[in-house]
Amino acid sequence: MGPVPKPTTASGAAEQPSHLRLVGIGAGPANLSLAALLHGDPEQPNLFLDRKPSFTWHDDQLITGATLQVSIFKDLVSLSDPTNRFSFLSYLHEHGRMYHFLNAQFAEVPRTEFRNYLAWAAETNENVAFSETVERVDFDGVFRVTTDRRQVTADNIAVGVGTVPWVPDYAVPHLGAGHLHVSQYLRHAKELAGKRVAVIGGGQSGAEAFLDLISRSDAERPAWVSWVSRRRNYFPIDDSTFTNDFYMPEYSEYFYRLSESKRAELNSAHLLSSDGISESTLRAIYQVLYRLQFIERDEHRFGLLPNRNVVSADRTASGTFEVMLRHNDESGQSECLPVDAVVWATGFRPAPKTFLEPLMGRIETENGEVRVNEDFAVSWDGPPDRNIFMQNAVRGQRGLPDVNLSLNAWRAQRIVNSLRGSTAPELAMSFIDWSAKSGRGTQWTR
Ligand SMILES: Cc1cc2nc3c(=O)[nH]c(=O)nc-3n(C[C@H](O)[C@H](O)[C@H](O)COP(=O)(O)OP(=O)(O)OC[C@H]3O[C@@H](n4cnc5c(N)ncnc54)[C@H](O)[C@@H]3O)c2cc1C
Repeated sequence: MGPVPKPTTASGAAEQPSHLRLVGIGAGPANLSLAALLHGDPEQPNLFLDRKPSFTWHDDQLITGATLQVSIFKDLVSLSDPTNRFSFLSYLHEHGRMYHFLNAQFAEVPRTEFRNYLAWAAETNENVAFSETVERVDFDGVFRVTTDRRQVTADNIAVGVGTVPWVPDYAVPHLGAGHLHVSQYLRHAKELAGKRVAVIGGGQSGAEAFLDLISRSDAERPAWVSWVSRRRNYFPIDDSTFTNDFYMPEYSEYFYRLSESKRAELNSAHLLSSDGISESTLRAIYQVLYRLQFIERDEHRFGLLPNRNVVSADRTASGTFEVMLRHNDESGQSECLPVDAVVWATGFRPAPKTFLEPLMGRIETENGEVRVNEDFAVSWDGPPDRNIFMQNAVRGQRGLPDVNLSLNAWRAQRIVNSLRGSTAPELAMSFIDWSAKSGRGTQWTR
């Protein structure tokens, strides 16, 4: 006889006890990491809820050739629990592709393969449920989590609702009518054929959209593509060895202890360690431009416009748009870009957490963020053993790694340790002494 299937709810998760140790709100990589580390622990019954019908990971940006910007070891679990069954290696093994993955010798892992790994981790964890939106959370000694399907109670909750697309206010009325955010790129990409297009945003997403548009066959290519960036040039991500020490737990702890103003200063100074463009993407763009200009002699199809701020985007009487640019160095110099369509690659902002409104009066905030303690638990006036854990929402307190994959497994392990009341040792010490050592004659030896 084969394994007995677990009873499932309408939304696909296994039937859960009516009271849980932890309910996770959102099942993106952040909360999936926590779900993976808690899986199989009978002391910590848990349930993770996501409003999407099934798992996706920025699917409308899975442009052919897009790759992961971090090491594959930065999967859901490996950096804190390499033997966990939800590791990337375990995914490869279960799908019979270990040798093939090795032989493929990817310099950078295809983003779609990582997305498929995440989907597998979500779908094979019976504590993860889709098609269920969390609408409100109340507290009366336990958390009462109300969804559009039911109410569950829990000792703790973990909020991991990620980010939502952002465009400037003046672009909002045009969305869906010639303008699109890059998060919807693949859904609308075909509509851009033959048009004059502006891609706005000098990060990885803008670079990928620009590369796709200039690389197309004649039938699908836009008439003209301009790539506008506020940055002074198209800058690469700094993925070098010592810079990557910013993405280690020890630096995160150092950063957390600094003053609020120093943290803000460092986030801005280190932005390109996280938000720059992959070298491989930049090289691919440059090579296509070379081919267009010198080999195909097709030089009139693109414009490169860094160091410019977009100040408005107005619709003309004929239904096209005028995008106004202001040059950063040449004050008073404005340019007008006549276009038919705009791709806004202007980033993401923390997702609204309206479901927390019943509790917001009891929660401390700092500069628009909820304040968290060292275990990523929100500072609030509730009992100390009833926690609201916060993932990917405290960049101001934890720095740039808070929003990317680098410290996912470590942060989730911190939360797990807090739930278990354990203090497992963390061994990942940086080579660098981030803090000053007070006193004379300090020996900087290890
Ligand atoms: C195109 C793209 C590529 C990226 N590539 C990398 C990379 O290579 N390396 C890297 O380190 N970082 C990368 N990032 C950054 C980061 O890793 C991802 O954004 C990551 O998805 C963040 O995970 P998350 O779980 O915090 O949020 P999300 O992935 O946004 O997941 C949040 C989930 O919460 C759900 N949700 C929201 N509200 C509710 C509610 N009320 N009830 C129930 N569910 C709800 C949403 O449906 C969503 O599934 C990339 C980002 C983008 C946009």
